[in-house]
Amino acid sequence: MLDWIKSRVARVTRPGKGPVANNKPVAVVLPPAQHGIPEEKISTNALRVLDRLHEAGYEAHIVGGGVRDLLLGLRPKDFDVATNATPEQVRQVFRNSRIIGRRFRIVHVLFGRDVIEVTTYRGHHSNAEDQSQGEVHDSGLLLRDNVYGTIEEDAVRRDFTVNALYYGVDGNVRDFCNGMRDIGLRRIHIIGDPETRYREDPVRMLRAVRLAAKLDFTLEKHTAAPIARLATLLNDISNARLFDEMVKLFMAGSAVKTYELMIEHQLFQVLFPGPARLLQPGNYSDRLIRQALANTDTRIRNDQRVTPAFLCAAILWPALQQQQQHAQHGGLPPYEALQKAAQKVISEQVKRIGIPKRFSQPMQEIWELQWQLTRRQGGRAERMLEHPRFRAAYDFLLLREQAGEDLQGLGQWWTDFQAAEGNERERLQRELGRTEGSSRSGRRRRGGRNRGGNRAPQQH
Ligand code: ATP
Ligand code: MG
Repeated sequence: MLDWIKSRVARVTRPGKGPVANNKPVAVVLPPAQHGIPEEKISTNALRVLDRLHEAGYEAHIVGGGVRDLLLGLRPKDFDVATNATPEQVRQVFRNSRIIGRRFRIVHVLFGRDVIEVTTYRGHHSNAEDQSQGEVHDSGLLLRDNVYGTIEEDAVRRDFTVNALYYGVDGNVRDFCNGMRDIGLRRIHIIGDPETRYREDPVRMLRAVRLAAKLDFTLEKHTAAPIARLATLLNDISNARLFDEMVKLFMAGSAVKTYELMIEHQLFQVLFPGPARLLQPGNYSDRLIRQALANTDTRIRNDQRVTPAFLCAAILWPALQQQQQHAQHGGLPPYEALQKAAQKVISEQVKRIGIPKRFSQPMQEIWELQWQLTRRQGGRAERMLEHPRFRAAYDFLLLREQAGEDLQGLGQWWTDFQAAEGNERERLQRELGRTEGSSRSGRRRRGGRNRGGNRAPQQH
């Protein structure tokens, strides 16, 4: 009997695939004693969704990052549920839910501010009843992915083996794609043929490096191999989606590691072509970006606020300076040159990453304030302290200095000025008289290249 079962369930292990029987992956089922996920660590709302769908006669599992992170002893960011109920059926079970997405329809079940994302099992596109459910571009890109299927099909349509582990109402974890093996080996392993899967959705290349950085995993060799060659496929992805991905890449606490992997696999230059042209390992651009990302990681660890505006300001700053110098050589005064350069750099960058106005606007202000911060006479410094973006601009100034820009003590001056009381502030401003002069118009260029506030900063 046992032999018969063994011969039916041919345990053929293919890259990224688990045991396979009759061309269908077979789940390895791990009871709680084996997978060790403590039930109390699972979101009660996610468990509630499983129970309610189950009671309504549907299958439902927690899948993805929630299961993966719990297996690694981490606190999941969110919990996703996969089910055989269609979005409309899920809607009927939960009054507090809404269907979202077009390219990929899912249901959000709302519990106050907590959202559980419920996704119907995805199937193979050859099973589509009508063309509009699944649409594939000539390049292999999936334009629409609303073909529903079984849990086995759903598993192999997920991106990485460690993301294809299913936690069920029975408390067992089902593993269709050798995800447990890769959790043990601490590696990101794409499911199926890497090139096909990246062509279907090039964002998977970004997800691979993001997850490797976040989890401190390696990229399995076949998963890593084609990325540099296929990186430019990301040019087909909308700039809005790439903005969302950029935020996940750099604002999740492992930005420096993510940046290093993006450079290694030639992804950074696709997302940031302008900045990448000025980048050499260890040069000013590289140090500035690393410093900005390291600060972001620290702030996230300390539960401090971070904003894409500041980060983008840093990534684009060397390109901005280059454009500014170009415009100054063309005859524009420094401040006008800065504004013109900002427009140019932003309009180039948003072709790839759709930075929304609410971030590009403050980013530009941070840049403009870099110039204003050099103008400290005649009460300007006092007024500057009241500027709503003074703090961000000051932090940015310190960042530039940390990265090696020689601003002749400007950062320290502002540090002292903020700490100083009335008389002391006057003294600090008086001392400037000797170095800064007292030009009233900040826009006029004064003689002496290295005197005054509007000098071009020096980089090392
Ligand atoms: P995070 O910790 O960032 O939430 P995650 O793996 O949960 O990581 P989500 O974006 O929440 O990422 O996606 C949930 C799950 O959906 C993934 O674990 C994966 O199984 C699947 N998935 C997400 N994006 C893709 C994709 N582009 N291609 C295939 N499967 C995907
Ligand atoms: Mg998730």
